[in-house]
This record gives sequence, C-alpha cells and structure tokens, in this order.
Amino acid sequence: MKYIIEHMEEGFSEWVVLEYSQIIRDIGKENLVLTSLPPSTIEKDIPQQLLDLGLQWTTEECVDIDGGIDKTRVCLLDPGATVDLTPEDKSKFDYFVFGGILGQHPKIDRTGILRKKYGFAGRRLGALQMTTDTAIRTTQRIIENGVKFEDIKFLDYPEIKYNKYESTEMPFRYIVDNKGEPILPEGMLELIKHDAEQSIDDLLI
Ligand code: SAM
Repeated sequence: MKYIIEHMEEGFSEWVVLEYSQIIRDIGKENLVLTSLPPSTIEKDIPQQLLDLGLQWTTEECVDIDGGIDKTRVCLLDPGATVDLTPEDKSKFDYFVFGGILGQHPKIDRTGILRKKYGFAGRRLGALQMTTDTAIRTTQRIIENGVKFEDIKFLDYPEIKYNKYESTEMPFRYIVDNKGEPILPEGMLELIKHDAEQSIDDLLI
C-alpha cells in the first residue's frame, strides 16, 4: 500500500511537521510520499526533522509518481464522499491519497480541490473531520488490519487540559489508545499547550 499526501498548506508549520513525522513513524518512510510541493522546492526547504525521518517528497503531482499511476487504482480519502471505506477496498486500490490540509472549524471543503482535479474514486471515514494523521491511521487499520470502521474506538472533540484550570477543545475525531486517550502525534500535546498559553499571554499584553 502506498499513502500519498498532497501537500496543500503553505510551507511547514510546527503542527504539520509533527503530523507528518508521526505518519512516517506509523506507516514507514517507504510507504509515504509527499507530493505537489511548489516547483521551486529544494531540499533545504524541507524541515530537517522530516528529512531525518527519511521523508520521500516531490514537486510532481500524485498522478505522476512512480512513472505515472493507474488512476483507477487510486482512492481519495474524502470527507465529502458518499461511501465509507471498508476492508474490502484493499483489493480495489494500491494508492490512498490524503489532503495535506490542517483542519479548520467550521470545516472548509479543501479536499474538494483534489476531488475535482483528479476524479479518483472517493471514500469517507465517517462524518466527522479527522486530522491527516488520524485519517491515515484509520485507513491503515481498515485496509491493512482488516478492522471495520465501526469497530475502531474514537473520541470526538476531546478536551485537552493545558493547566489546572484551562482546557481547549480539539474540533476533530481521534482514535483512542488502550487507556482511552486520544492518539496525538508525538510532541502535539506540548505544542497545543504552548500555543494556548501563548494566546493567553497575548491577551494579557
Ligand atoms: N475540512 C478539511 C477539508 O476537507 O478540506 C478537512 C481536511 S482533513 C484535516 C485532512 C485530510 O484528512 C483530508 O483531506 C482527507 O484526506 C482526510 N480526512 C479527514 N477526515 C476525513 C473523513 N471523515 N473522511 C475521509 N477523509 C478524511
């Protein structure tokens, strides 16, 4: 299975670096390609942390990798699709494409840009918005582990406590670990706390 992320953000925010790093750790560097980077991109534009993890990246569009891929064997993970992904889809597709998009609340249909541009078959992962790493983790469980979507344990809109008194709600659906905690990329909890404290400091200035 090959997982493709069409990078649609400008540059690489800390949030994006943590998500992509976790995806590489989860699925292995040989199974992920980051595509559609701006044509002028050179290696020094890629964050060192991602290069150290062995990120494969290209300025080519997803359809042009591996010398050109068979579009009928590509699935776009699309919150706007009408059919949910099932373990049976494993035999239908070789490539799974995701939007390298940071979620927004309320959500904006930026995956629709990929839907219209490429015309791949689309599959949904339920009705709620997930982060890109959660969407890949969910796809991996369904396709590689054969687990049905309804048998995966999720937590919707978790509250992340960042000090004794304050917390912030993450407007996404997450898979939970065996302690019932949402699975976040390594370092994300600290980044969320840092960003939340920063915005409080800004209010106090
Ligand atoms: N509001 C954003 C949009 O659709 O433009 C959501 C982007 S989401 C943070 C990043 C990527 O994860 C999406 O482009 C899609 O590939 C995947 N994804 C997230 N939630 C999904 C869902 N419920 N069903 C299918 N794919 C999903």
